[in-house]
Amino acid sequence: MEKNRLTGVVIRATSGFYYVQTGARLLSCKLRGRLKQIRYSVCVGDHVHYSLAGEGEGNIEEVLPRESFLQRPEVANVNQAILTFAASQPQINFGLLDRFLVLAEYSEISPVICINKIDMADPEELRPFLAVYEKIGYPVLQVSAKTGTGIQELQKLLYEKVSVFAGPSGVGKSSLLNAVEPGLQLVTGELSQKIGRGKHTTRCAELLPLAGGGFVVDTPGFSLTEFVEMAPDELRFQYREFRDKLAGCHFSSCLHHREPQCAVKQAVQTGDIAPWRYDSYIELLREIQQTQQRRF
Ligand code: GDP
Ligand code: ZN
Repeated sequence: MEKNRLTGVVIRATSGFYYVQTGARLLSCKLRGRLKQIRYSVCVGDHVHYSLAGEGEGNIEEVLPRESFLQRPEVANVNQAILTFAASQPQINFGLLDRFLVLAEYSEISPVICINKIDMADPEELRPFLAVYEKIGYPVLQVSAKTGTGIQELQKLLYEKVSVFAGPSGVGKSSLLNAVEPGLQLVTGELSQKIGRGKHTTRCAELLPLAGGGFVVDTPGFSLTEFVEMAPDELRFQYREFRDKLAGCHFSSCLHHREPQCAVKQAVQTGDIAPWRYDSYIELLREIQQTQQRRF
């Protein structure tokens, strides 16, 4: 049996069948033995061992440990989040960007900041804001699905990774996916709203294989529910530029809020930490604290 044990990735799951991809081969698989007995929930993105069972068919024998897990929609092993915003129409919502960054950090998924529609804006205007994120250590791309600027760079980043595009609707996520992988032919614009691509939370996710290697999740990947599980003292670690300041705070438990002698607040004063990053932190902190109060 060991001999024909193969490894693949579950890219689609429908009522009892799992489509497992290995290289260019796609097999329709069922759960087997112990996995079936314990009703183990295999999820899109799972790496599995399987055995061949017939023409184009196989049996999943084992699910390998997950490195990350997104809940809505359920996808395992996503390792990169392309946080997509538009340079214009709609304008960048930095509060939402920070929220996505926190969720990505918390889920241990590497974020990339991708600003689309740069054909519609003056790049000089955005530079000071984007420079803040680059200094923190996040990769920032400026692209245009329309003119093709930066698309090759984006393609390179997607290579061999499992990526999810997240961002508000209308920023051009579907257009970008079509630009990096013309074969996908995703519907864009108003039509995509009408046919309900926006109602992604009720749908199962699917992994779309990229010709150059790697996968993208076919639905926008983060819902905002994950905060329910985050404790207030965990939030401060999701702001990378706050982490190395903590040692300078008077209290090691400092939440950088009402505490005196706080190195983070000092850094905001001196301009070392961007004021809107601090503001978005306080807003999320309040939200998390309120959620906790409701729970107890
Ligand atoms: P999604 O909701 O994030 O998937 O956004 P869509 O891909 O559906 O795009 C929303 C609208 O923005 C559509 O009308 C696109 O044609 C337009 N759009 C997308 N990318 C660009 C771009 O780079 N430049 C310009 N000018 N318009 C774009
Ligand atoms: Zn502090």
